[in-house]
Amino acid sequence: MPTGTLYTVSAPSGAGKTSLVQALVENDSQVTVSVSHTTRPMRPGEIEGINYHFVSRDEFVGMLGESAFLEHAQVFENYYGTSKAWVEETLASGRDVILEIDWQGAAQVRKQMPETVGIFILPPSQQALLERLTGRGQDEQSVIDKRMAQAIDEMSHYVETDYLIINDDFTTALKELRAIMTAERQRLARQQEVHGALLQSLLRKQ
Ligand code: 5GP
Repeated sequence: MPTGTLYTVSAPSGAGKTSLVQALVENDSQVTVSVSHTTRPMRPGEIEGINYHFVSRDEFVGMLGESAFLEHAQVFENYYGTSKAWVEETLASGRDVILEIDWQGAAQVRKQMPETVGIFILPPSQQALLERLTGRGQDEQSVIDKRMAQAIDEMSHYVETDYLIINDDFTTALKELRAIMTAERQRLARQQEVHGALLQSLLRKQ
């Protein structure tokens, strides 16, 4: 069984990363998204085990002590981490895995697993980003200002990725995301794993 490919998808908040990834996985049974652990409070509409595994700071620190995370980072005032066991098991089962994580996490993953494919999503302008951040209507102005500053910091790390998508039009950005996955699946090393028997039989002398 060929192992799956690991992807990191990073973006500033408000760039549309979660919606794009959700739309991608809905129509692709070969890929699945990791559900991170976080100490951040649940937002309205979020569901435990779907959006995140919501844990206390003590629980998070306990998991850190058990080396349960493939990567972890502090974003804003909260901690976020990716379950190592889940990622390893899912990749071993042949499925591709997407980690929706910040640049710090993506850097840690790339260091441990250099074959990871990095994707970065950027908004078409700062103004569009501001509108998307404000449009959520869930946060106060001071929180939005802080998020904008954090977004600019996150965006400054775009050069550390393999693929860059500018999410101006959702449908176009989704097509581009699908194209990346399609191209990665046709890479020689992966095709040799998937089609080993066929490749051997094609070269059999008559
Ligand atoms: P939010 O709290 O808005 O859902 O996410 C805030 C930031 O944390 C986003 O940039 C998101 O990608 C990042 N994030 C979510 N889960 C993880 C994780 O497991 N690890 C890391 N490093 N970042 C994460």
